[in-house]
Amino acid sequence: MRPFSYARPADLPQAVQLGTATGQGSVDAPVQYLAGGTTLIDLMKLDVLRPARLVDLGGLTAGLDSIEVAARGLRLGALAKMATVADHPAVRRDYPVIADSLTLAASPQLRNMATLGGNVLQKTRCPYYRDTVWGACNKRQPGSGCTALGAATRHHAVLGIDHSCIAQYPGDFAIALIALDAQLNLRGLEGPRQIPFSTLHRDPDGRPDIETTLKPAEVIVGFEIPASPWFRRSVYVKVRDRASYEFALASAAVALDLSGETVREARIGLGGMAYRPWRALPAEKFLADKPLNEANALAAADLALRDAQTHGRNAFKPGLAKQTIVRALLQAKDLSIGSG
Ligand code: SF4
Repeated sequence: MRPFSYARPADLPQAVQLGTATGQGSVDAPVQYLAGGTTLIDLMKLDVLRPARLVDLGGLTAGLDSIEVAARGLRLGALAKMATVADHPAVRRDYPVIADSLTLAASPQLRNMATLGGNVLQKTRCPYYRDTVWGACNKRQPGSGCTALGAATRHHAVLGIDHSCIAQYPGDFAIALIALDAQLNLRGLEGPRQIPFSTLHRDPDGRPDIETTLKPAEVIVGFEIPASPWFRRSVYVKVRDRASYEFALASAAVALDLSGETVREARIGLGGMAYRPWRALPAEKFLADKPLNEANALAAADLALRDAQTHGRNAFKPGLAKQTIVRALLQAKDLSIGSG
């Protein structure tokens, strides 16, 4: 048992002050924010994270757990529970890809506990990161090496990786957010700021222990997803080893703006495949102004995986990802979307 202190701030400014020493997730980051606790507590028990202080955001519900559906878009508080958002009728109707990504993400118990803010910051499931028996892990101990290279890699990433880390981003909700061009609202020592969600997660870049672009003490306050009537034509397809509550081997978040059979605009997020939430921009560009049929969907999927690099047992992944993209595109095309 490692001793740690626990603080429960009264409001957001106090939380940010208490979080001043927040690290970027390396083993000995002195302060960690706690929300639902569904990732952090696990990693503390495993001795992977050893905070000296936890700052519990769980009591800060004022405005931070809200769901607002307005004409300019959807605003989700960072402390809203995954289950509450997934079951919200307007979210289900206008942003089905968001609702489905949350529903398919975890068991009901986890969805009732986990928050949106914590969900997007969840840590990789790389077994060599989560078990301190393995000494070499650049994400856990910078500069120590990477055990996964040359070991069991079935669940490791093929996109956005480098020599320092091939871990896979495990989340689902983030894949929908990146596809829909969400914005992230933050609060830090210098006040509030907004960034595109696509800039939250970093590439490994030789320092996989630094996972995000958050500044010290910065807290995620909420998410803004723009309104587009065609986001109703969106799906989240998740392929995994078993049907219930497993991390994705491959997933695709797709939204389509169609004029008849022709694509006006396509959005494609890829999960289970990359080091960070991944947007398949070359595939989106290829599909614009083309009829959506199986051949074009497959050509787009080929482009999405063009730069994939496999290691040993994850050689099956690019093929699986392509099939997942094609399935998601054709499924979205076939959706009948109402106007009510
Ligand atoms: Fe660590 Fe990344 Fe290598 Fe896994 S893949 S052992 S997280 S450095």
